[in-house]
Amino acid sequence: MSKPTIVILGAGYGGIMTAIRLQKELSLNQANVILVNKHNYHYQTTWLHENAAGTLHHDKTRIPIEDIIDTNKIHFVQDTVKEIKKDEKVVILENKGELTYDYLVIGLGSDPETFGIPGLKEHAFGIRSINSVRQIREHIEYCFSLYNNTKENRDQLVTIVVGGAGFTGIEFVGELADRIPELCKEYDVPREKVRVVNVEAAPTVLPGFDVELVEYAMYNLERRGIEFLVGVPIKECYEGGVLLGNGEDIKAATIVWTGGVRGNHLIEDAGFETMRGRVKVEKDLRMPGYDYIFVIGDCALIINEEINRPYPPTAQIAMQQAYTVAKNLKALIAGGSLEEFHYHNKGTVASLGRGEAIGVVGNKKLFGSTAAAMKKVIDNRWLYLIGGIPMVLKKGKLNLFK
Ligand code: FAD
Ligand code: NAD
Repeated sequence: MSKPTIVILGAGYGGIMTAIRLQKELSLNQANVILVNKHNYHYQTTWLHENAAGTLHHDKTRIPIEDIIDTNKIHFVQDTVKEIKKDEKVVILENKGELTYDYLVIGLGSDPETFGIPGLKEHAFGIRSINSVRQIREHIEYCFSLYNNTKENRDQLVTIVVGGAGFTGIEFVGELADRIPELCKEYDVPREKVRVVNVEAAPTVLPGFDVELVEYAMYNLERRGIEFLVGVPIKECYEGGVLLGNGEDIKAATIVWTGGVRGNHLIEDAGFETMRGRVKVEKDLRMPGYDYIFVIGDCALIINEEINRPYPPTAQIAMQQAYTVAKNLKALIAGGSLEEFHYHNKGTVASLGRGEAIGVVGNKKLFGSTAAAMKKVIDNRWLYLIGGIPMVLKKGKLNLFK
């Protein structure tokens, strides 16, 4: 009998960990495993806000895929997935034709959720990939560099609007709070001329998060020069500014949308039933009605039965799902029963910039440098899981208190 082919789409948190687990779970003669990813590197999506602000170089955030996987066991294909054909068991690639699979793992991450707000797709940046954050960093630097070379719209050049104060928005403005003084010094821009405005539609920043930690975050960020407009939605975005629900018009040369995510559009395009682009998966993480397709990470939706609401899409859940999927693929191929996925929430920690963070781990609240050190431990743990101690030494955040 010929070996089955497993195709994994995406080498983010979910996809790369599925590949790593499969190379441990399966032997060479049990399956062909193919990993497809747009780039020849894995990147930690969770660090992208730092690259966007320019507080961390993007090369620190990306890792060549062939440094992580065992290429004797996993065949890596660098290409962009264009279409998933669920009934024909085929994936169409942009450049390298098509791939046929027996089992498919979809880990293609997310797209920005723009809620149909006019102009956002055209005029706002997104914190999405190495390419997108490199562009944000360079755009902001360019705007600062123009400041002393023009007499027109100077204030607009150094105004940055961040739309959405969820975790991504808050982490990004935290990095900007560190970066702006450096940029001001480099480009001779008076600090008081620079505005960073974080606009949030909900009545509070970080809606749903612990109130005391939210207050700490706002106090800390405001003290470091971040302005918040809370309870006001962005209604429209145009080239050079945003219109708000309260009628205000903010002229800003840089607009970054951090207003939420939805599952990768390829899932909807394939005709699967979705909620905000995410597939409500079975307990064993398979696609309903397709027992040869697994969906993980930001593409998957799982209900937290305690509160009857979906778990938020995070790296933490994507990584845990990868372990279950690898075990279940082994069961399908080598025999055995499939296991159900159970999420173990290990806590949430959000950085607010250098040496500052907030978080909840177990039932303990963390603030300031303790939380910031914990965040680095979490980041380093991921590097350890994908590449052991050498990867931690190469890419890790080793100084926990700086
Ligand atoms: P991703 O990690 O996004 O990976 C998707 C992969 O698919 C990428 O490699 C991408 O290049 C590839 N891909 C996409 N489309 C195609 C295509 N058409 N063809 C080929 N390849 C493709 N979560 C936490 O738990 N903790 C945090 O601290 C945290 N911080 C965050 C900070 C930021 C700034 C952001 C934006 C998110 C953060 N998250 C955090 C959320 C977390 O990053 C995501 O939930 C997680 O990355 C989802 O993993 P994934 O494997 O589904 O997708
Ligand atoms: P999110 O959905 O968590 O937050 C988006 C925010 O934008 C919300 O507060 C929402 O009210 C606001 N918003 C929506 N429409 C708006 C409008 N028109 N005008 C102004 N504000 C508007 O999205 P995110 O922050 O990108 O996070 C995505 C996922 O990644 C989440 O699951 C999050 O938990 C996870 N994440 C985790 C961390 C961490 O653990 N440190 C960091 C970043 C992201």
